[in-house]
Amino acid sequence: MSKGRCDQCESIDTCPVCGSRVETFNHVGVRAVTSKSSTIWHYAVPCLHRVEIQQFGAKKQGTGKLAVYNGGPLWKAGYQWFNVFWGSYWNGNADIGRINGATADFEAAKSYSGGLSEYNVGIGLLGGSVVIPTDSPATVSESDIDPAISSWIASKQIPNLGLIGAYNIFLAPGVTATLGSDKSCVTFCDYHDSINGNEGPFFTLEPFPCQSGCNQCSGSSFDTLTQGLSEEMVELKTDMNPGTGWVISNEEICDYCDANFVCNKISTGEYVNAWYSNKNGKCWVPK
Ligand SMILES: [Zn+2]
Ligand SMILES: [Zn+2]
Repeated sequence: MSKGRCDQCESIDTCPVCGSRVETFNHVGVRAVTSKSSTIWHYAVPCLHRVEIQQFGAKKQGTGKLAVYNGGPLWKAGYQWFNVFWGSYWNGNADIGRINGATADFEAAKSYSGGLSEYNVGIGLLGGSVVIPTDSPATVSESDIDPAISSWIASKQIPNLGLIGAYNIFLAPGVTATLGSDKSCVTFCDYHDSINGNEGPFFTLEPFPCQSGCNQCSGSSFDTLTQGLSEEMVELKTDMNPGTGWVISNEEICDYCDANFVCNKISTGEYVNAWYSNKNGKCWVPK
């Protein structure tokens, strides 16, 4: 987990939900359902209640260099994505090719991902993908991810990417992801995190596309997925250990643009979520 304190939580010593002492916080980069705020969600340790964090510090209005770099790891040129389709549902599923295609398209898109060079973030590639034929639990909590990745590496089903890449983990229909007491499709759509802070492994978690609350552009579940996946990939690259990379107060750089959401596509046709550009003083738009 991404444990520690950031500027926003360093003075919180008591959980406002249960009153118990807070030792530290888990920070998770979350894309929320549209009725909630996409930010870096804070889970108090050890009680694991989610604590609402006040935005402060950064300029929140107007234009200019809103994003600030906190010194953590960033995605470098040549880093790899590896797509993991978890569960027997994915065996022989034709959507895998389309999802892998979108993953590669996001990474190769010149102005969308290439533009992140202003944040010292490089261009990577899709290294490969795998179907894990063993079904996941019906509920996948964040603490299930660490042993899963470790076992898949040990059995050579996935490469050990270490610090030089990240896994996109796709869940099957009917499987619920949880963060504390939060459930996918109820309060959040998807998230990215690191198992062990700056040391990785790094991953995005993509529940099967939610029926509502996670797609502001169309009724297509593929479009729901690409809006989430594009956001999580950009935010993982620019903030690999949530809160330690490029952030705007308690928001990652796509979160900021979710607040005034605009439907945008890259040139290969997939819907993507925009990211905030310090250089242009506004959210990304197609050229
Ligand atoms: Zn914090
Ligand atoms: Zn608590």
